[in-house]
Amino acid sequence: MTMRTSRAALTVVVASLALSLTACGQSGEGGSKKERTGGEGSTVGIAMPTKSSERWIADGRNMVAEFEKLGYKTDLQYGEDDVDQQVSQIENMITKGVDVLVVASIDGRALGDVLGQAADQGIKVISYDRLILGTPNVDYYASFDNEKVGVLQATYIIDKLGLKDGGGEGPFNIELFAGSPDDNNTRYFFQGAWKTLKPYIDKKQLVVRSGQRQLDQITTLRWDGGTAQRRMDDLLTKSYGSEDVDAVLSPYDGISIGILSALKSDGYGTSAKPYPVVTGQDAEVASVKSIVAGRQTQTVYKDTRALAKQAVQMADAVLNDKKPEVNDDTTYDNEKKVVPAFLLDPVSVDKANYQSVLVDSGYIKASDLK
Ligand code: BGC
Repeated sequence: MTMRTSRAALTVVVASLALSLTACGQSGEGGSKKERTGGEGSTVGIAMPTKSSERWIADGRNMVAEFEKLGYKTDLQYGEDDVDQQVSQIENMITKGVDVLVVASIDGRALGDVLGQAADQGIKVISYDRLILGTPNVDYYASFDNEKVGVLQATYIIDKLGLKDGGGEGPFNIELFAGSPDDNNTRYFFQGAWKTLKPYIDKKQLVVRSGQRQLDQITTLRWDGGTAQRRMDDLLTKSYGSEDVDAVLSPYDGISIGILSALKSDGYGTSAKPYPVVTGQDAEVASVKSIVAGRQTQTVYKDTRALAKQAVQMADAVLNDKKPEVNDDTTYDNEKKVVPAFLLDPVSVDKANYQSVLVDSGYIKASDLK
C-alpha cells in the first residue's frame, strides 16, 4: 500500500467511525430518540410513487408547503413506479438522518427491510394513502375511506343505468377494471364496487360478457393507462362483436383515459353508439375535461390538500411525543398490526356537480378546464 492510499484508507475509517458515532447518537441507545423533535431544524423524508399522475405531484407539493409552515425541512423523492428506486430513495433518507418518514408505496410489500432500518434509527413512519404491508414498522396511516371509493363508482353506474328496484331496460353489459395488484388500495376499491354491483349481476340486470370478474383477472399493473387500453381493446374484440358495452367500472382516471381511447377506436362516441358509463378516480384535470365534454362520465374526488394536512399533523405529533388524531383503529390490518388511521371522505363527481365540488372549492382552476 502506498502512503497515499493508506492515508486515504485511514480517512475512510475515521470518517465511517465518526458516522457510526453520530448514528449511535441518534439511534436510540441511551434515550437518544428524544433528539428527534418536531419543527424547526427537523427534516421529513417524503417518498412518493410517481410523477406520472397529477395527484401525487400535488400531494408532494402540498406536504412540503405544510411542513415548511411548521419550520421543517423536507426531502421529497419520487420513485417513478420503480420499486428498487423507491427503496434506495428511502435508504438514502435514513442515511441522511431524516427525523420522520412519510411514504406512499409503489409495492406495499417491498419496504419491510428498509423500514426495519428506519425503526433501528428510531424513525417513525406514516403510511400515506396506500397502506404498507407485512411490517410492524408503520406507525400511522393517513388515507381516504377506500372501500367507499368503490361503492361510489358502482353506485353511480347503478343509478345512471336506472337499475334500482329492478328498473332499467337491460340487461346491460359491464366490464370491470381494477388497479395495481401490489397496491393495497386496489382490493378495497374493488371490494366496495363488487359488493355494490353483485346483487345486480346476480339478478342478471348486469352482465359481464367477458366473464372476467375475479380481482386477479382485472388488475392493471402500476395503474397504467396503456395496459388498460390494451385490455379494453381485447375485451371489445373478443366479447363485443354484435353487442355494445354499457358501463365500465374504472378505478382511476388514468385507466379511464386508456379505456376511452380503446372505445373510441372501436367506433364509440357517436350518437348511434354513445360511450358507456365510465367511472374514474382522482378528479385529474384531463378527466374532468373529458367529463365536461361528455366522454368520461364520473370520477371520485379525494381532496389531496386535506390528506397532506392530515399526514403533516400526524408526523408533527409523533415527533412531539403527542398522539396523532385518528378516526379508525380497526380496518387497516397490514398483517403485522392494525395501523391506526385517519380516513377522509371521497366524493362522487360528474358533469352536474364538478363546478361546485372542484372549481368552487379551488381544487381545480376554471381556466385549467378550458
Ligand atoms: C390511490 C388513487 C390513485 C391510484 C393510482 C391509489 O393508491 O389511492 O387515488 O388513483 O393509486 O395512482
